[in-house]
Amino acid sequence: MILDDRLKQISGVNKKFSNWSKVFECKPELFFMPENEDDIIKIVELAKRYNKNVRAIGAGHSPSDLACTEGLMINMDNFNKIIEIDSENKTVTAEAGTRVYKLNEVLQKNGLALSNLGSISEQSIAGAISTATHGSGINFGNISSQVIRLTLLTASKGIINCSADENDDVFKASLCSIGALGIILKVKIRCESAFKLESKQFPMKFNDILNNLDSIVNSAEHVRFWYFPHTENCIIWKADKTIKELNPPKQNYFKDYIISFHLYQFLLYILRYFPSKLPLLNQKMFNYKFSQEKQFVDDSYKQFNFDCLFPQYTSEWAIPLEKTKEALEKLYDWINNNKENVFVHYPVEVRFSDKDDIWLSPAYNRKVCYIGVIMYRPYDKPVSYKKLWAVFEKIMRSYDGRPHWAKAHTMTTIELEKTYPKFKEFIKLQKSLDPNGIFLNSYLKRHLFNQMDVKAKL
Ligand SMILES: Cc1cc2nc3c(=O)[nH]c(=O)nc-3n(C[C@H](O)[C@H](O)[C@H](O)COP(=O)(O)OP(=O)(O)OC[C@H]3O[C@@H](n4cnc5c(N)ncnc54)[C@H](O)[C@@H]3O)c2cc1C
Repeated sequence: MILDDRLKQISGVNKKFSNWSKVFECKPELFFMPENEDDIIKIVELAKRYNKNVRAIGAGHSPSDLACTEGLMINMDNFNKIIEIDSENKTVTAEAGTRVYKLNEVLQKNGLALSNLGSISEQSIAGAISTATHGSGINFGNISSQVIRLTLLTASKGIINCSADENDDVFKASLCSIGALGIILKVKIRCESAFKLESKQFPMKFNDILNNLDSIVNSAEHVRFWYFPHTENCIIWKADKTIKELNPPKQNYFKDYIISFHLYQFLLYILRYFPSKLPLLNQKMFNYKFSQEKQFVDDSYKQFNFDCLFPQYTSEWAIPLEKTKEALEKLYDWINNNKENVFVHYPVEVRFSDKDDIWLSPAYNRKVCYIGVIMYRPYDKPVSYKKLWAVFEKIMRSYDGRPHWAKAHTMTTIELEKTYPKFKEFIKLQKSLDPNGIFLNSYLKRHLFNQMDVKAKL
């Protein structure tokens, strides 16, 4: 490939990419770090000229090969300006590579905040939107649903501005487009006045939660719970807006760092050889760290986020809200009674999200319960997870589940077509905006275009 001086300046070769959990990796032919829109346009032109796959990445946090490419990889980290903060109308416009944590800090300084966030804020704003990253709150949509305007660079139609009033179809499709439609250049997001949240975390028995599910889900603005596999125990986390004085959590070096991080990781490592002891570890960690009630008041974005500890395998699906109880009962039964010696790390995480009208959002047209399972990789070492995944996915499928796009899954194109009413329209739009498929990587070919032989590199 012949590169002009500017492209040479912002490119590199022999760069290996691996995602946050170091499970998926790839070696792009060329790696770019653009600083402005013109740079990105040039890279896409280069991809078109040489018919190369081109992929933008944010923080590389997706637990799958979604961000991988063997073609041209665009790291968006240097395309990260906050373009405008409109305090009166409570909106922010930012370049696509802006990390969510930076957005949080700048918004806070300007008296604004995002309404809802996921468990971390490391993501780039475009990366978070591209996979419909969500937090928890039955009347709160995912981050994509907070976007009011988006600018997309496409292969066939150049730059498209879209919103509910302009190119509405492109807007609804690109709000969760897993990199398939083009490169998101900038987004305008609806915010609200900066706010504090008062959170309460307390233990509760699994059956008590299921027997009071409706009232629990609606008992606060934001509610999530964790189940500790092989035990009866859960913790509930609830948060509501407050005007109370700040009362943030105080770090306890010994408890939070030595025991709950280092010792815990070491024990997970040892139990790779003695997995039948995992139920005991789950119970002990619950007793040590989670059996007491906790209550804090802090800035919203600090409350939404928490420490996700170490790299992990993870699978998460969204099922219709009304199926939550049945699905969790099935999962609980299997975890506690399986004869295959499968032992599961905590937490099984349960969250809730409002419905939206974004074509490929797992919450399209339905309020959902997200259920996630994880298996940690202590010191980046593998642990067995495939049997758990197979059973978990089977249960989720049986309740018309939709997988989180960022997280590795086995849904076929035919299955996706069935569960997403707008799937075919999305594919039609994809083909018209990207006729030569330069934005399609292995993940997208596999799941959107039925090429099941395009395996993920594990
Ligand atoms: C520890 C951890 C905690 C997490 N917590 C949550 C959570 O609470 N809730 C939740 O829903 N998810 C969660 N996730 C998943 C995470 O939010 C998603 O994987 C998100 O997409 C990651 O953003 P990123 O910037 O790292 O994007 P990447 O992983 O780099 O990319 C994701 C996708 O976005 C595309 N993309 C990135 N930038 C652009 C662009 N400018 N234009 C077009 N496409 C682009 C990529 O091509 C790729 O398809 C978590 C992940 C981890 C590792």
